[in-house]
Amino acid sequence: MKSVISILFGLLVCALLNFNAEAASKVRIRMNFQNTLLNKQSLPPNMDIAGQDLKNKSIDIIGSKEYFNLLKNSGYPVEIVDTQTKIDPRYLTPEKILNLVKQVAADYPNLVHVEKIGTSIQGRPILGVRISTSENLDSKPVILFNGMHHARELMTTEVTTDIITYLVKNYDNLDTPWVTAWLDRLAIWVVPQMNPDGNNIVWQKDSWWRKNARAIEDRIYGVDINRNYPFQWGMCKGSSGVPADQTYRGAKAASEPETQALMDFVKKYNPSINVSYHSYSELVIAPYGCANQFTPENFIVADIGAALAKTLKTDDGKGTYAYGTGWEIIYPVDGEDISWMYNEANTMAYVIEVNASAQGFQPDFGEWRNKTVLGQRAGWQFLLNRLMTGSQVRGRMLDASTGAPVEGSIYLNEVKYRSEKPRKSKNGFYQKMLAPGSYDLIFSAPGYESQSIAVSLDRSAIVQDVYFERKGK
Ligand SMILES: [Zn+2]
Repeated sequence: MKSVISILFGLLVCALLNFNAEAASKVRIRMNFQNTLLNKQSLPPNMDIAGQDLKNKSIDIIGSKEYFNLLKNSGYPVEIVDTQTKIDPRYLTPEKILNLVKQVAADYPNLVHVEKIGTSIQGRPILGVRISTSENLDSKPVILFNGMHHARELMTTEVTTDIITYLVKNYDNLDTPWVTAWLDRLAIWVVPQMNPDGNNIVWQKDSWWRKNARAIEDRIYGVDINRNYPFQWGMCKGSSGVPADQTYRGAKAASEPETQALMDFVKKYNPSINVSYHSYSELVIAPYGCANQFTPENFIVADIGAALAKTLKTDDGKGTYAYGTGWEIIYPVDGEDISWMYNEANTMAYVIEVNASAQGFQPDFGEWRNKTVLGQRAGWQFLLNRLMTGSQVRGRMLDASTGAPVEGSIYLNEVKYRSEKPRKSKNGFYQKMLAPGSYDLIFSAPGYESQSIAVSLDRSAIVQDVYFERKGK
């Protein structure tokens, strides 16, 4: 079955290329894999996969009606599930998001700090919003929530903006003392919308548009900014090199300003945890993206990620989100943000795919908007608590004789790292997320003697300042 499907897909690739270039008359096509193992299919990289349903073993594909006919005539178990072309006007446009951020910053100046972290190809600002009190910012753990790498995933900006508004409205409220604790003790960053240009295309002319607005040879083909990050870029058939494809990885790694904006942000603020909101499929996805690869600290990545998935209820109310790496639970991906973040900054980085395939990219707003953002609160609130009080070691790295902050790094002696960079301190503050266990922590900094500190921890945080002696003293 597998080889037959592979050959058929091979024949379809050329046809698909022609059909996919135009926006007109696209539909959502569901393909059932009930008699085979979905995860073992060798799907061609240029299919525009919208989402999947693990329980019912189906995937959804966006394509033209001609493409649907081609699949059907080739014997595939396909059906059209959605022909939507109009967007419910209650969903957020790029302009509405800017206004919302502006308003929140004006209403809560002591809690909200807005920073333009980059500019899209068409000149739209990409905003970072920090929700935190302004005290001790240099020694606050940092978490990042970002939304809408993919333009058509409309529910993701509902979730990211809900994080902002929920937190500011409930600070200093006696009924929610935990919100006050989070804002006093954490730096919570939200990038509500990574891809404003693509979202503008969704509103203006193609409600199925996924990529940014990169023009190639006079036409907007777009780059999938979540295949453009410079870690394992284009390495494992997890993206496409064909500009017309919806997973086109770009002309070179990190070629897109939207990608660069998030990279600059991560390098500048060093988040310990990140969630990138996507839709749909009801999954929590962990790095790495390429087949058969786990991060060397998978025991930590999975400790946090699997617990996160358990906090998120599925839309049918009968279960919780599934957890795993992309290649385990959907398909291999390369050049995505979460693998780059882990490799670059030791960030515990996840994708959350909100909503079920029954809901799709545009769940009925009246029925699903509030239900979805309320359900997602359990996830990001779990992470705020995990960041604040869960298994980890954090503290200051300081010069033993002067007490000045030291820019150093920390890694686990037990772990065999490959290309990964160690967790670093920023302004002398460090935080290393862990799972319960015993570790030999190695602290090092240029010009100083390295030191090793043994710790044993359960489900609570250890605060440990580290004093470095200068070498040759
Ligand atoms: Zn997505």
